[in-house]
Amino acid sequence: MKLNRSEISKIVSGKILQNEPMSRHTTFRIGGPCDFYIEVKTINELQQLIKLCIKKKIPYHIIGFGSNILVKDKGISGVVIRLTGDLSNLNFNLQNKSAVAGGGCALQLFVKRCADNSLSGAESLVGIPGTVGGAVIMNAGTKEGYIGSLIKSVTVMNAKGEIKRIGKKSLKFSYKSSNIPPKNIIISAEFLLKKKSISDIIKNLNKLMQYRVKTQPFGFYNAGCIFKNPVGDYAARLIDQTGLKGASVGGAVVSKLHANFINNAANATAEDVLKLIKKIQKKVKEKFNKNLELEIKVVG
Ligand SMILES: Cc1cc2nc3c(=O)[nH]c(=O)nc-3n(C[C@H](O)[C@H](O)[C@H](O)COP(=O)(O)OP(=O)(O)OC[C@H]3O[C@@H](n4cnc5c(N)ncnc54)[C@H](O)[C@@H]3O)c2cc1C
Repeated sequence: MKLNRSEISKIVSGKILQNEPMSRHTTFRIGGPCDFYIEVKTINELQQLIKLCIKKKIPYHIIGFGSNILVKDKGISGVVIRLTGDLSNLNFNLQNKSAVAGGGCALQLFVKRCADNSLSGAESLVGIPGTVGGAVIMNAGTKEGYIGSLIKSVTVMNAKGEIKRIGKKSLKFSYKSSNIPPKNIIISAEFLLKKKSISDIIKNLNKLMQYRVKTQPFGFYNAGCIFKNPVGDYAARLIDQTGLKGASVGGAVVSKLHANFINNAANATAEDVLKLIKKIQKKVKEKFNKNLELEIKVVG
């Protein structure tokens, strides 16, 4: 069964774009078209849209800012959904030192507003592009701290379109992953923070941001680190030691500054990036007998 625009617009008040190139919605600026790109503004809209997709057997895919995905050149068959409006709200309870952020809330807005409210904990997330939903599902962070450690509960919509609250005890966060079941959509997350002086928080934010600017390529299209760090080592170190900094396939180039980044330097295709990924994995395996596992999600 096919979806048509008029039935979607009966449910959804946000943007509905047909045959929309995903290169417009990923930080890599790569990716073929999806059948429909839809921005939902409320839980009710999301619920109705998911139920419609289930009824019509149309695949759906949630994205945030597309900062951790590589969409294939053929694109995505089905519907791509972004959470906006009410689903990107951010509210603080200063007495409880807590915050509730919608899944679509920009992570950097969350970091900034925590600082404004003299609440500490989110500093390690400074400079990470993306949304709260995308960050929670994969436990984004740095060695300074990961988002999972701040979470009190998560509210999800499961694959049947039902809303569930998952409390801290049932949640498990590990390195760049969480136990939130696949196909669950993060509607919101509740965070517990600590009181600290604004000036101390800002000092720390500036220090961490300066480190990021010094060590990561800025002004390039990319999706952050391509590979997870293998236990006890760094993917960037292994790639650097194989002499692959600056190596390229088509328009995709291994960053000379941070070897775990691949930049889209000149209209790279997803195929270019995937070939370069294979080349890196092969060389690292040959030299160090280590398998590099992807951190980015390949979609489509
Ligand atoms: C320059 C740069 C630097 C980066 N630095 C870091 C870093 O230091 N640390 C780090 O951890 N990451 C880093 N990243 C990667 C990326 O920013 C994070 O992983 C971010 O959390 C992804 O969020 P997103 O909203 O863009 O998710 P997307 O890339 O849009 O999606 C990623 C995955 O999350 C899923 N998802 C998105 N929203 C939801 C939701 N509401 N519910 C359920 N699933 C959802 C998607 O389906 C997809 O599988 C960096 C990326 C860039 C481009």
